[in-house]
Amino acid sequence: MAREQDDILHRGIGMTSQRTRERLIQRLYEEGLSNAKVLEVIRRTPRHLFVDEALAHRAYEDTALPIGHNQTISQPYMVARMSELLLEAGPLDKVLEIGTGSGYQTAVLSQLVERVFSVERIKVLQDRAKERLVELNLRNVVFRWGDGWEGWPALAPYNGIIVTAAATDVPQALLDQLAPGGRLVIPVGSGEVQQLMLIIREEQGFSRRVLGGVRFVPLLHGPLA
Ligand code: SAH
Repeated sequence: MAREQDDILHRGIGMTSQRTRERLIQRLYEEGLSNAKVLEVIRRTPRHLFVDEALAHRAYEDTALPIGHNQTISQPYMVARMSELLLEAGPLDKVLEIGTGSGYQTAVLSQLVERVFSVERIKVLQDRAKERLVELNLRNVVFRWGDGWEGWPALAPYNGIIVTAAATDVPQALLDQLAPGGRLVIPVGSGEVQQLMLIIREEQGFSRRVLGGVRFVPLLHGPLA
């Protein structure tokens, strides 16, 4: 590995050490996550680079953490679970992500699928996420600053869509932008606890699976500079 990249991946040692990361992977495995590819990608993705330096020592705890602007970086368990659900039926080439946030879920996805299209409403979060992905040399991602309720129609359809904020109901635009057989993973609900759903575009209509309670920040309306 080039010296420079080595520095980037291991910056902020201590609690971000390899052993701490291994413990997280072990825990996810024990909690029932079994997709080896997903776990391997989580193992090698430096989550401490996606949070403030002051929080880096907590980056490998299985918990959501604040990233500013009232938003959070998703819990590793949830990142792994949603990635597994997307990939359950086989590899995907085009995936749309709503809610770039820190870019952590984006970085994980980009190592599991061919291309990621990521929409975020808060410009400054998106800009920072973009820098992190370039730093990690993850180049199969394109970003759009906009309102995720609308999806990204110009580049549709997508084989997978993942929403990392809770929607009061399933956005029609996202259903419209799913390819045949395409999969949408989305937390739905307006309370503090929402239901994680997997929606698949079948030959006729959509099938829906409810996967249990989750906690996400809300999917809001309109872009924010
Ligand atoms: N996967 C991200 C989670 C970020 S939290 C991570 O791991 O860091 C949810 C994100 O969704 C926030 O960044 C929030 O700004 C964004 N968001 C909320 N409503 C949105 C909308 N309508 N369109 C696009 N992004 C939205």
